Amino acid sequence: MDLGLTDKVVVVTGGSSGIGLATAKQLLTEGARVAICARGAERLEAVRADLASEYGEDRVLAQPVNVLVEDDMTAFAAAVAEFGGASALVNNAGQGRVSTFAETTDDAWREELELKYFSQIRPIRAFIPQLKASGQGAIVATNSLLALQPEPHMVCTSSARAGVQNLLKSLARELAPEIRVNSILVGLIDSNQWQRRFEARRDKTQSRADWYADLAAKKNIPLGRLGDPAEAARVLTFLAAPASSYMTGAQVEISGGVSRFI
Ligand code: NDP
Repeated sequence: MDLGLTDKVVVVTGGSSGIGLATAKQLLTEGARVAICARGAERLEAVRADLASEYGEDRVLAQPVNVLVEDDMTAFAAAVAEFGGASALVNNAGQGRVSTFAETTDDAWREELELKYFSQIRPIRAFIPQLKASGQGAIVATNSLLALQPEPHMVCTSSARAGVQNLLKSLARELAPEIRVNSILVGLIDSNQWQRRFEARRDKTQSRADWYADLAAKKNIPLGRLGDPAEAARVLTFLAAPASSYMTGAQVEISGGVSRFI
């Protein structure tokens, strides 16, 4: 199937690691040109150099950006306009917060709500003109299954993610028909977030394979393992591509079957 991505410019926030990096690679494989951003300049530059050497210097743009900072986003959007103008935006930057209601301070609530909402709002605002001008604009958000199936140990992340799904549904209406808006709901995907939790494990004698197998068992994942970033990336790529042209306002679950609802 031709996804229709040849020479299209796709923006991926949080493109220096995990799901975002896997998505940048998948998009490049499909013939797109990619513009990635993240806060950490050093890791971002290393990733840019790798991608450029594999796919071509003219196919990759990378800029250090905090998606929560309006000036950063404005400058990034200007650079992407020079690069050819975005036809799709993959809003993927972010991280989860582990805390129960009892542990979550007001400041932590504000920080989490700001991260989850504004990591969508700022990039979307900055890129709407380019997405509209492309004639085939698409926004895809990486969200979490926690939006629909909250966990008590991630109470503010779950709640903020539910609000984000609601926002995306509104945007799918407001931005149609020029821009489609879809999302993925991920369960547990093996990325830096989980690597950090593995490194902080209590029992340091436990191997990586055992720790991940225990985690999959504890979380009752029917497919018996965590997902690979590439498995999320393939769906993000499809939703960002003209191939999914009749989809908007949709949410696709990538969780190994871990949801308990129909
Ligand atoms: P990683 O930690 O591997 O990657 C996160 C990426 O986002 C990095 O490139 C990071 O770079 C960037 N980033 C984080 N905050 C910002 C910011 N404010 N501005 C710009 N870039 C930022 O995580 P994943 O690949 O796992 O996560 C991708 C998305 O999926 C996240 O939104 C995460 O919350 C979500 N998710 C992941 C799950 C999982 O199991 N992996 C589960 C549910 C949701 P830098 O730190 O340099 O800025």
